[in-house]
Amino acid sequence: MNVLLVYAHPEPKSLNGSLKDFAIERLEAAGHQVQVSDLYAMNWKASLDADDSLGRPTSSRFDPSLDSKRAYAEGLQQHDIACEQEKLMWADAVILQFPLWWFSMPAILKGWVERVYAYGFAYGVGEHSDARWGDRYGEGTLAGKRAMLVVTAGGWESHYSPRGINGPIDDLLFPIHHGVLFYPGFDVLPPFMIYRTGRMDDARFSATCDSLGQRLDDLWTTQPIAFRPQNSGAYEIPQLTLRDEIAADEFGFAAHIGESARG
Ligand code: FAD
Repeated sequence: MNVLLVYAHPEPKSLNGSLKDFAIERLEAAGHQVQVSDLYAMNWKASLDADDSLGRPTSSRFDPSLDSKRAYAEGLQQHDIACEQEKLMWADAVILQFPLWWFSMPAILKGWVERVYAYGFAYGVGEHSDARWGDRYGEGTLAGKRAMLVVTAGGWESHYSPRGINGPIDDLLFPIHHGVLFYPGFDVLPPFMIYRTGRMDDARFSATCDSLGQRLDDLWTTQPIAFRPQNSGAYEIPQLTLRDEIAADEFGFAAHIGESARG
């Protein structure tokens, strides 16, 4: 299988750097092909701007969506964007690995998403009409591929528990899991979390690698989070609200996860 590891940490000798090296070794030892997008090492340009769409008249108003659409359709994207899209198409599974910074992904990785997820590639795919909101949330260009987050956090696991002060980790990661990954079609696996990173020593690092290795071994068999597909009848058209009879007592993020994932 082909695995793309998109990695966002500025320091190769960091905990993240060690875990990234471990993951590559483990996946390759299992016979998988691995490509790594090491965003800091690549000096990845994080800002989406007019330079990303080639061939546009400089006098025209830059439209981030429509210029992205034209550039994607006409092969006029910046080379780095097209390369990352090719890697995504090549991959059977994609891992995003990053330290939790201000309760989300580092800016450089957010910039990777914003620039690589072009109109026509990751959104604006399929029929858009009064009766259909396109191929997204379970359908789309990246359907059939798996995705998983590997995230380190300084806070304790209890801080991210259902009543923890930071809010539940599933809620904090929902915009990435559901918005960034499920939206363009990925099957999204439960995240691999490493908490309380300030308390890492050799023994804990070794145990962490064992657990991560198991998750990598299970990449193809782990049950994805049961997000509800947009076009499977669970949502009213065109409002895209959950039908009244589905998860009637659930609101917010949790309502968009079906029963099978929560037992
Ligand atoms: P490092 O600092 O490189 O290492 C962590 C520990 O692991 C160190 O003790 C190191 O000695 C040890 N270690 C490293 N490699 C090995 C190895 N190979 N073997 C054994 N031990 C090793 N945390 C939150 O919980 N929520 C937030 O919102 C949040 N926001 C942040 C925002 C910013 C801007 C920053 C800088 C930090 C933030 N943090 C937050 C903390 C952050 O998540 C952690 O600092 C980060 O996850 C640690 O990962 P690292 O790779 O940088 O670890």
